[in-house]
Amino acid sequence: MKRLELRALAEEELTEVAIGLGLKRFRAGQLFQWVQGKAVQTWDEMKNIPAQERLQLAESLNFHPLERVREQRSQDGTRKYLFRLHDGETIECVLMDYERRHARDRRTVCVSTQVGCAVGCAFCATGLGGFRRNLSVGEIVGQVLDIVCHLRREDPEFNITNVVFMGMGEPLLNYDNLLQAIALLNHPKGQNIGMRRMTISTSGVAPKIRDLARANPQVGLAVSLHAASDELRDALVPMNRRYPLKELLGACREYSELTSRRITFEVALTEDTATRAHAEELAALLKGQLGHVNLIPVNPVAEAGIKRPLKSELKTFAELLEGNGITVTVREERGTDIDAACGQLRRQWEGES
Ligand code: SAH
Ligand code: SF4
Repeated sequence: MKRLELRALAEEELTEVAIGLGLKRFRAGQLFQWVQGKAVQTWDEMKNIPAQERLQLAESLNFHPLERVREQRSQDGTRKYLFRLHDGETIECVLMDYERRHARDRRTVCVSTQVGCAVGCAFCATGLGGFRRNLSVGEIVGQVLDIVCHLRREDPEFNITNVVFMGMGEPLLNYDNLLQAIALLNHPKGQNIGMRRMTISTSGVAPKIRDLARANPQVGLAVSLHAASDELRDALVPMNRRYPLKELLGACREYSELTSRRITFEVALTEDTATRAHAEELAALLKGQLGHVNLIPVNPVAEAGIKRPLKSELKTFAELLEGNGITVTVREERGTDIDAACGQLRRQWEGES
């Protein structure tokens, strides 16, 4: 029989396991608290569970904390982790705002949902490496748990307030595991991260956006638009060949109608796409859509030969959108000194090892 993953189980599922092993029902609550709340990494730490029972549990459940193989610290407080999974695959995870936690009460983790990615966007280091596999529920939740565990050694009060599913992989192509992981992270006895403080970023899997609208877990949605015409978007975000703009924006409209939530449209600008004509095209495309645009100067990835626009071009682009009644934010740069664009650390590491 396939063993269940400890970090993937809800309290009710743990209850079934406990009862199946002849243990008291309340052990499940204790176990859940150790795993999801206290974020422990070993059975030995679960002090209020008798050693014999811990052994029994360990024999029937898989418990695979992630192995921290690399950590980079940026001058701006961003920390980037490379984790090794139990089968040897590696993923990246980024903690933002850590050093600034006293100035702003926000600590955000950027979580991966797949090992690699099949979408293959032109400027993305993760896409360059191709797709390996989906992450399990325990591996998705585990990124947050292991960072919490690690940093509580420095600061026992440490917790995570926000999660963005913007690490490696396309979250909506691992939809079921993603939604289960979100429910665990949101659990009051777990990390208790508010639904509204979690954001899913997608390259535009239109049917899954519609599913998400119906499930409406109250999380935020970011759509990686990047281009306002099918021609350009086909080249930059190949998901567009499957779900072209008309279909994608149709799904976005349905999402906004059903959830009354604003979508964030991510637009990473390169030296080629930060043009006036593109800004006007984008304004026309988004007319009447509930949402706002987040402009990002693309993070240069050497192998992809993509370069950033000038600051002045970015500013003109933003002004043109605003002039058309669109709310615009320009993403703060973080961690550029540590290659914080996801996928870069892993590529570097694999190149060396
Ligand atoms: N697969 C999902 C989520 C992970 S990528 C998605 O594509 O939305 C998270 C975000 O980083 C996306 O908006 C993606 O387009 C962006 N991104 C990837 N590489 C980048 C780079 N080199 N510079 C700027 N943004 C990048
Ligand atoms: Fe995949 Fe997102 Fe990278 Fe595109 S940007 S290749 S969808 S991870």
